[in-house]
Amino acid sequence: MSGQRFSKNSKPAAAVASEGPAPNHALKPELALGLERQLDKLLAAPLAPGLYIVSTPIGNLADISIRALCVLASADAVFCEDTRHSRKLLAAYGMGRRLEAYHDFSGDKDRARILAALTHGRSVALISDAGTPLIADPGFKLVRAAIEEGIGVFAIPGPSALLAALVTAGLPTDRFHFGGFLPPKQAARRHELEAARAIPGTLVFYESGARIEETAEALAEIFPDRPVAIARELTKLFETALRGSPSAILEEIRASKPAGEFVILIGPGEQKPPEREDIENALRSAMRRVSLKEAVEEVAKGLGVGRKQVYNLALQARSKGNDRAR
Ligand code: SAM
Repeated sequence: MSGQRFSKNSKPAAAVASEGPAPNHALKPELALGLERQLDKLLAAPLAPGLYIVSTPIGNLADISIRALCVLASADAVFCEDTRHSRKLLAAYGMGRRLEAYHDFSGDKDRARILAALTHGRSVALISDAGTPLIADPGFKLVRAAIEEGIGVFAIPGPSALLAALVTAGLPTDRFHFGGFLPPKQAARRHELEAARAIPGTLVFYESGARIEETAEALAEIFPDRPVAIARELTKLFETALRGSPSAILEEIRASKPAGEFVILIGPGEQKPPEREDIENALRSAMRRVSLKEAVEEVAKGLGVGRKQVYNLALQARSKGNDRAR
């Protein structure tokens, strides 16, 4: 962390934008023309039948794709978690269309009704209150059922707090584990965090404002040496990013008592090189399934060790196996 114990985005992006020069209205006609061209192209063809999983903003209303808007405008039906909430989003883009509810409490009957429409060749869009449906949001059972019925399922990708937090955390992104919401009860939450210590890569969890201080305390105890980032209110007016040691972040949280929505990220720990025994065990298991050459490739890649070292151990394991067989 470049010798820094703790860093914080000094100003929210929304505040920075509003302090800049006056908006460049000169660009508006060109932009409007470009947008219209894209809209014309997308709206010219009828929407193919199928289930559309449409991502919507996680705070900033402007974070919605042109394709998402067109699907929401032209789908035969739009299902959402909370019709009052999603009506505001659609109204912001001039759509006053009918919305239907599909949420955590929707059951087999509700799914059957949607599937019936889909099997009759209708197009159905699914949105959640924010971000990407199915990511800590309803929709999985519906998608699974649609696939089982042979119905086309299409993603209209866009915002998700998970990826927005990950790409701004300053932590490795090549391998990450998304743990969804941490359990609300303190003991279960600690248990889950302790279990996650062994998972390689950056760990990502969602957390509510009500529990952020308790969770920061647990992070300081369970991950004292790992870099941590906490993204708050992404894309919104009070967007803040805290990055640094868990103890410094805990201090800041105790002092500022932040409210809102949070994503917690924990950087990977120091990777210890695997012991000889680990390599031998991995080899034994791989050699039961594949050839010696393939096992060496697999283990060297999986454990991040040199191919030559793994090859020598594989030869030893094979000759021991042959001795035993004689
Ligand atoms: N489907 C959403 C997505 O794609 O990110 C997540 C929905 S989940 C019910 C809501 C949780 O996501 C919040 O409690 C918070 O942990 C995280 N979240 C959503 N919006 C956020 C934002 N603007 N800033 C930080 N975290 C956010």
